[in-house]
Amino acid sequence: MSFPTWLPLRENLQGLSPYGAPQIENMTQLNTNENPYPPSPALIAAITDRLSQVALRLNRYPDRDASELRTGLAEFLNGLSGSALNLENIWAANGSNEVIQSLFLAFGSKGAIGFTPSYSMHPTIAKVTGTTWTDGLREEDFSIDIEKAQIQIKNVRPSLIFVTTPNNPTGTSARFQDLVDLAQAAALVGALLVVDEAYAEFSQDPSALKLLNHQPHVVVVRTMSKAFAFAGARVGYLAAHPEVVKAMLIVRLPYHLSAVTQAIALVALEHREESLATVAILIKSREAMVASLKVLGVEVVPSSANFLLFKVPSPKIIWQSLLDQGVLIRDVGLSDYLRVSIGNEAENERFIAALKQSLGGAK
Ligand SMILES: *Cc1c(COP(=O)(O)O)cnc(C)c1O
Repeated sequence: MSFPTWLPLRENLQGLSPYGAPQIENMTQLNTNENPYPPSPALIAAITDRLSQVALRLNRYPDRDASELRTGLAEFLNGLSGSALNLENIWAANGSNEVIQSLFLAFGSKGAIGFTPSYSMHPTIAKVTGTTWTDGLREEDFSIDIEKAQIQIKNVRPSLIFVTTPNNPTGTSARFQDLVDLAQAAALVGALLVVDEAYAEFSQDPSALKLLNHQPHVVVVRTMSKAFAFAGARVGYLAAHPEVVKAMLIVRLPYHLSAVTQAIALVALEHREESLATVAILIKSREAMVASLKVLGVEVVPSSANFLLFKVPSPKIIWQSLLDQGVLIRDVGLSDYLRVSIGNEAENERFIAALKQSLGGAK
């Protein structure tokens, strides 16, 4: 994207494009890793009920510190990992993207590194916040060679190190020992290791939450957008040492999280069993889709998330052919791969049928 010269645009924003995953109506939308299952009738009723209470006080600013929500999130994480977190360990914002932006604002002074291919918003938010970004390396199988990573971290000496696990767009998980080693590498150069666990609920692998007790250099970022099936509400959060959270209070905008968001996020937490029940269904569907792709002779990267990265001869042609058949998936800019989110059964069937057609056409 280019801007006219009369516009006094910041130099670091020249040449950047807005985040632009297509949103097309009447499509089988399998391009943004959303949870395909809408809120249950019970959750919808509870949200509606709570909103009528919130509405009575919409003339007032919300709780600036979102204390009740942060306490609820701490309890949720404690239930998962046996940790002993409380609200001082938790920060919440409008999606984990805002959490990540706040991390850059507070801690980006010496630059950041992440291991590509990974979540494209990490380098984008880095650029927007004027943070120098370095691409770390991944191996052919998308794993991280820890020795190489340690050397790169020592050379670059960034203040932020990003690891996404399960990784987007590959679906692969970092080994727990890798996280331990990276946390140590972070501590050694005085950096924070930011573990983006947007898809953790879909994975059997141990979470970096286990590191928080003895590693102040670790920040775990999570979201309600994926497993919680709550992307429309925009709620993300982090768990970290209380000093990290204190810094978040400095960079956040006053009253950043609306009363509406805080209230419905709490309701969603109360109803977590129903929402998270979709995780098991999606994992089963994922395995069924792996099998269907293999039947089509398509190579699939092992995934512990709610999406699959798969190998195709000419991604751009296949992507367009799928779109022409009403199925929207993601071209993640890798030369041999496309990414598909796991949808509901009907969507998954439509995708497989369309892909069969597209592959036939490409031969
Ligand atoms: C989807 C995703 C997010 C979530 O962003 P929200 O702002 O919470 O919706 C964060 N990190 C990664 C790696 C993701 O794939």
